[in-house]
Amino acid sequence: MKMGIDAGGTLIKIAYRAAESEEVMEYIHFPSPQIREAASWIKQHAPEAKVCITGGKAALLQSCLSQHDVSTIVEFDATCRGVQYLLQDVEGAPEAFVLTNCGTGTSIHYADTNKHYRLGGSGVGGGSLIGLSYLLTGIGDYNEIIQTAKKGNREHVDLKVSHIYEGAVPPIPGDLTASNFGNVRTDGSSTRDIADLLASVMGLVGETVTTASVLAAGQCGVSSIVYIGSSFVSNELLQDIVVGYTKLRGAEAVFLENGSYSGAIGAWLSL
Ligand code: ATP
Ligand code: MG
Repeated sequence: MKMGIDAGGTLIKIAYRAAESEEVMEYIHFPSPQIREAASWIKQHAPEAKVCITGGKAALLQSCLSQHDVSTIVEFDATCRGVQYLLQDVEGAPEAFVLTNCGTGTSIHYADTNKHYRLGGSGVGGGSLIGLSYLLTGIGDYNEIIQTAKKGNREHVDLKVSHIYEGAVPPIPGDLTASNFGNVRTDGSSTRDIADLLASVMGLVGETVTTASVLAAGQCGVSSIVYIGSSFVSNELLQDIVVGYTKLRGAEAVFLENGSYSGAIGAWLSL
């Protein structure tokens, strides 16, 4: 058996096929602090497997798998390879695109069928989503954050362009966020509603990641942005923010089924 693993800052993602003859890829993930549990699972389920690991915690996980035949691959090579593989199933898939990986942090790349290179990144990513949410509301569980954020109203926290251009016609769409968290009054009369705060954290992360991505796309002369990373997993609100904001800025957002496993798939393909 072959196993591709992306051991990231927050989650260890594993891609494998249950049998050589199987067409379907199986996926499983573990929290990165539970690296020993992940290693035990690999030893138990695939004692004979050939393993390829990528990601920042590759060396650490490799040290837990001394009995396995383990190779490593550079994270960006694995991720781009995995994305190209998943794009095969997408109708009208772009040939050249910006690839935005919103993981613990955010990494932005240019990719086409021949090459890929890193354009930049942002420290604002899924880690910020969890960290800011916890500091503001005391909720640190990912699933609780995304479920609660759905019920929130950002109007109580964020300042829109139309709020500033009160009664006048703004030079840019009034619906754009003028200032994330800029509608918070400091006289103690502002909302402390947990759902509103979490919705605004989602807005801050989504809009920051999108702004960096559309600027990168403009720089490269492409109009498609492929967004991956576990920050989008089951997180329709973040996806909607990113899709809407990307469109507003004149580009097209593409999401991939199992896109969060791109690095693991790329590692698997290299075996
Ligand atoms: P990096 O590539 O930056 O080293 P990573 O590969 O571990 O990090 P991802 O797995 O792509 O990053 O995304 C991690 C983010 O996904 C978290 O910060 C969080 O916002 C979100 N997330 C999704 N599912 C979970 C989960 N079950 N537990 C914790 N965070 C989750
Ligand atoms: Mg990652």
